[in-house]
Amino acid sequence: MFSKWFEKKDTASSAADNLPATQSISRADTADFEQRPAKKSRPRRKKQVAKSQWSLAQFQVPKKEGQSRFHDLELPLSIMHAIADLGFEYCSPIQQAVLPYTLDGYDAIGKAQTGTGKTAAFLLTALNDLLNNPIEDERFMAEPRVVVIAPTRELVMQIAKDAQDLSKYTDLNVEMLIGGVDYAGQLKRIQSRIVDIVVATPGRLIDFLTRNDLKLDQVEILVIDEADRMLDMGFIPQVRRIVRACPAKQNRQTLLFSATFTDDVLRLTEQWTIDPVKIEMGPDRVAADTVKQKVYMIAAEDKFTVLKNILSSDEVSSAIVFANRRDQTRWLYERLSKTPVTCGMLSGEVAQQKRTSTLKRFKEGKIKVLVATDVAGRGIHVNGISHVINYNLPEDPEDYVHRIGRTGRAGETGTSISLACEDDAFMLLDIEAALGQKLDCEQPPSSHTE
Ligand code: AMP
Repeated sequence: MFSKWFEKKDTASSAADNLPATQSISRADTADFEQRPAKKSRPRRKKQVAKSQWSLAQFQVPKKEGQSRFHDLELPLSIMHAIADLGFEYCSPIQQAVLPYTLDGYDAIGKAQTGTGKTAAFLLTALNDLLNNPIEDERFMAEPRVVVIAPTRELVMQIAKDAQDLSKYTDLNVEMLIGGVDYAGQLKRIQSRIVDIVVATPGRLIDFLTRNDLKLDQVEILVIDEADRMLDMGFIPQVRRIVRACPAKQNRQTLLFSATFTDDVLRLTEQWTIDPVKIEMGPDRVAADTVKQKVYMIAAEDKFTVLKNILSSDEVSSAIVFANRRDQTRWLYERLSKTPVTCGMLSGEVAQQKRTSTLKRFKEGKIKVLVATDVAGRGIHVNGISHVINYNLPEDPEDYVHRIGRTGRAGETGTSISLACEDDAFMLLDIEAALGQKLDCEQPPSSHTE
């Protein structure tokens, strides 16, 4: 499943090895900080963490052949408590493969889709490191120890939420920096307390760096999520600037995830990581096990009727409908709004605040159907979505894999239905090649066509 081609990384460990046994050193402490500004008075942490009576005895998970438990990773108790609250019992395959290395400080590159548990993999690595290497010295505002960058606002929000969930019994602070919402408000929060983890989209993070409102020279762990998508979206110049603003790769841990490893992505991983552990989780896991894929061959003019009938059937408890373009998304949303089905829309033309509230209502089950474009749909991490409907087949086969990965998450099963017509059926060949499997086309049941 994975290979490693490294010798044990010696930057952090060699420095740590030379210290007395009781003293710990974090990787950033080894960087050259001659350039730092004069020290200001140290702001104190505000967050008060209630001392909990919780113990591992309240989180019993039996050993299982071939599966790792979080108990086996020697994580701090506060993290184990949060994991127990989230209901995670065993590591997902990517967590099982990568955590033994990343918890030891190795760089890692992971070929993994959303839905595999990669977010928790990198967040657990980061939280474990921060808790095991507390900084006793003065800290400054707006100098995070961990930075996570991801291509879309929704993805950033989801990662920040996961980070908050996993760190809720610690006094670590997580902040999120995204475009489309008030800069001043984000700045105020960053300046009001010590921040440990920043999760950001590249553009907004660059705004903060350019205005000198944030410094990355104390970063110990850099996480780059969905690197391929950042390339596609033209973010790489910004990402390069962010990487340059962090300590050199010898002095930080770098974790990079990408759904695909094109030559371009591989070149970047070579520049930004040192002897990384390489984990590959193929898309077949998403496609094969948990998602039942159907393709309905229909005439273009029948698509909306079939869609409407699918969505109003009892089988569908919660669904995302994907369309390729914003105008198609809007058109679908407007037409569906006239039916009894409750729906919302997520696309680049919807204001950020509205997108956030729509996603929240969808997660709470107040909206049954979400109509989305691929970019907006990337950040949708909602368990319990019963159906994904492709109103059009996506032009990029990777988007197909991402779309259907919105359902069948976290051990549940889901159904994807693609509505193929004479205009887009030819794309099935590329999709089948990306999936490595053939998709059977069928006629929709007659109850859906009238
Ligand atoms: P991700 O691939 O990071 O988008 O995670 C997919 C979903 O799986 C999220 O809803 C996580 O909360 C959930 N998840 C992550 N790790 C585990 C685990 N070990 N056990 C059960 N669910 C998990």
